[in-house]
Amino acid sequence: RPAMPRPDHTRVFVVANQKGGVGKTTSTVNVAAALAQLGQRVLVVDLDPQGNASTALGVEHRRGVPSTYDSLVEGVPLADVVSASPEAQNLWVVPATIDLAGAEIELVSVVARESRLRKAIHGHPWVGSATAAGEERFDYVFVDCPPSLGLLTLNALVAGDEMLIPIQAEYYALEGLGQLLETVEMVRAHLNQGLDVSTILVTMYDARTRLASGVAEEVREHFGERVLRTSIPRSVRVSEAPSYGQTVMTYDPGSPGALSYLEAAREIAAQGASQ
Ligand code: ADP
Ligand code: MG
Repeated sequence: RPAMPRPDHTRVFVVANQKGGVGKTTSTVNVAAALAQLGQRVLVVDLDPQGNASTALGVEHRRGVPSTYDSLVEGVPLADVVSASPEAQNLWVVPATIDLAGAEIELVSVVARESRLRKAIHGHPWVGSATAAGEERFDYVFVDCPPSLGLLTLNALVAGDEMLIPIQAEYYALEGLGQLLETVEMVRAHLNQGLDVSTILVTMYDARTRLASGVAEEVREHFGERVLRTSIPRSVRVSEAPSYGQTVMTYDPGSPGALSYLEAAREIAAQGASQ
């Protein structure tokens, strides 16, 4: 594959939507793996106690492995809790263990509790501009959020530069987005002025139904240019991949799901080049 230019600084993406099952984790791991295949250096931070992103990227997340919890709650440097993903040479993961479920409560009494993740991510020597972080820098960091708007997701919103919101092409797709966007506005006003809702990805698109195309249209009316041209089709291969500890990018690289995630990754990289 032709080499793709690297961004001039680490782009930190928050993948969030408080609705469960809309494709946050699937989009996180597949866009991350696609970018890694395109030669980018990518870190995924699993911020969901379920650890689904860790599983899909082939990384252990049983209790006791160094994890997001250690960094977020105990203040362990992020570099000490990063694991290499077997998916690609230039793909890394901070796994989530079930301990993270307690973090929502444990963090309540901690100083600067909303900016713990920001500190952890920006404290990593590979995060920053080309000059500051050198050749080894991460080009992309993706934070996979849990399905809630609690303190974990808040930490991600404070840590991120950009937001990737997956929207499932189904009835009620836009329900709950108002609340998410209000939270984003609150974060922008008080905690992270730079947060940009840059990317909307329509997932589980079924081209055979009028409902799906109607939803995609409605999402475009609402978010305009920020909606990626590529939608991700509903496909069994995409949902099978995690049970093999793989992304669909390696499980079935030629499948429509993999090709769509590759195209979405290209669009995301192109957005960055024009910024
Ligand atoms: P979230 O992280 O938002 O809760 P997931 O990414 O875990 O959502 O996706 C929810 C479920 O839908 C999972 O079982 C996943 O395998 C399945 N899924 C996600 N994207 C697709 C797709 N394009 N085609 C088929 N199944 C999908
Ligand atoms: Mg998830």
